[in-house]
Amino acid sequence: MAEKYDVVIIGAGVAGLTAAYDLVARGFKVAVIESKPRNRIGDKTCGDAIGTHHFSELGWKPPSSIIDHEYSGVKIYSPSEKYGVVVPGEGVSVNRVKFGQWLLSRVLDHGGILYDSHVLVDVALKNSRVEKIIVKKVGEPGLREIYAEAFIDASGAKPSLRPKLPSEWPLAERPYMTDFNIAYREVIELEKPLDSDIEYAIIYLNTEVAPGGYWWLFPKDPEGRIINVGLGVVWGPQGYNPRHNYNKYLKPRFKGKLLHAGGGIVPTRRPMPTLVWRNVGVVGDAAYTVNPVHGGGIGSSMLSASIVARNMANALEAGRVDETTMWKANKEYMAVYGAKQASLDILRMYLQKLANDDFEWILKNKIVDGASIYDLGTKGSLVEEIVRGVGKLIRLLGRPSLLNQLRIVRSYMNKVKTLYLDEYPETPDKLHEWILKTESVFNEYRVEIGYDPGPRVRW
Ligand SMILES: Cc1cc2nc3c(=O)[nH]c(=O)nc-3n(C[C@H](O)[C@H](O)[C@H](O)COP(=O)(O)OP(=O)(O)OC[C@H]3O[C@@H](n4cnc5c(N)ncnc54)[C@H](O)[C@@H]3O)c2cc1C
Repeated sequence: MAEKYDVVIIGAGVAGLTAAYDLVARGFKVAVIESKPRNRIGDKTCGDAIGTHHFSELGWKPPSSIIDHEYSGVKIYSPSEKYGVVVPGEGVSVNRVKFGQWLLSRVLDHGGILYDSHVLVDVALKNSRVEKIIVKKVGEPGLREIYAEAFIDASGAKPSLRPKLPSEWPLAERPYMTDFNIAYREVIELEKPLDSDIEYAIIYLNTEVAPGGYWWLFPKDPEGRIINVGLGVVWGPQGYNPRHNYNKYLKPRFKGKLLHAGGGIVPTRRPMPTLVWRNVGVVGDAAYTVNPVHGGGIGSSMLSASIVARNMANALEAGRVDETTMWKANKEYMAVYGAKQASLDILRMYLQKLANDDFEWILKNKIVDGASIYDLGTKGSLVEEIVRGVGKLIRLLGRPSLLNQLRIVRSYMNKVKTLYLDEYPETPDKLHEWILKTESVFNEYRVEIGYDPGPRVRW
């Protein structure tokens, strides 16, 4: 007998399980396809840090058992590690496996079906909609066909469903390699516990250790004995290797027992132009919902998933799932997160061009304070404040060129914010025109600051 659901979700990461929960809670018949075995769901290589505001924004109160450690803010250090700035804001280090298992149990308790150890192999279209997917159980012969009214791609930074869709669908966009960071990290039980900064998630700006990214030290227990330490570098033709840099610069500093090691890719760019098309939604890393500047994506993955799931549920109830009936998902996401994210993509490219000297100078001279960086994370307004507030100081300190560059960055950040907020199309038929306009603004900006995006990814 054919297997048929209201919604099939590919990927049981934080995004897929958030969407699944929202849909089963509304009474829909949902299946989640996941390549990992059930007991490894949640086992994602990650820095594990998340601002607690993400949970409250979703109205969640996760159990304390999923929290390893609490932070009172983020501390950012200059390349020499002599200067630091504290960005206030509560956060936690989550235990990713326990968190994933908690998200999964909510879905299963409400009647969701899990196909663990199953991979998506193909999709079949009918009347310009996805009719069914074809999956395979890992290590077993034979294929299975699963039908649904609607599908959600939550398969992560290298998505598995999206690239199988017709290339004329706007969900099939292929990003640049430099739109990603490649990262490597280890979780270590230290021989000698940390003796300071245990209450902070710590970020080190250093273009030698982490070109086009940063390296981090996120304590995972109140004694400073267990740490999550790693680095991300910009992906691309330069061929930076995060593991090589880890072994060279970080391993000698953090001796102890290795508890977990792994790498991954992080999409550090603006969101997909649309999160919905025909009867398909895309959420989380698969839709590039990560914050381009700090690379945090757990919170925004869940947020995008919740928005898409709600709009998909409304469309299912109304009897027709397509981009028109789900369009509100885009408007909502761009308003709450996407517009800020897109304007931070502009800042990200500029930051990736700065050198250690620049970061040292900025932090030494206190050009930015913690509160403004916090605002940057929540509103994307840092550059505005610097140009207005300390422009004179920058000139006095002998860096007028920096001020000019910041003016360019500010102007493009504002342009992009307007594009994603005020000019985002009201209806899907205007999307193509908007994509062309947006791409031309990004291309113009790249030329203006001399940013070479490199080749497009192959998938
Ligand atoms: C090294 C690193 C450090 C990070 N640090 C942080 C941090 O400290 N804080 C933060 O907020 N964010 C961090 N991020 C980003 C964050 O982890 C992601 O944004 C978030 O986990 C994305 O969730 P997701 O559900 O969209 O994707 P994923 O968690 O990647 O889930 C996708 C799921 O789909 C499954 N899947 C993929 N293909 C198939 C297929 N063909 N068939 C079946 N299943 C499939 C995968 O197995 C996976 O379980 C980090 C990322 C990396 C790589």
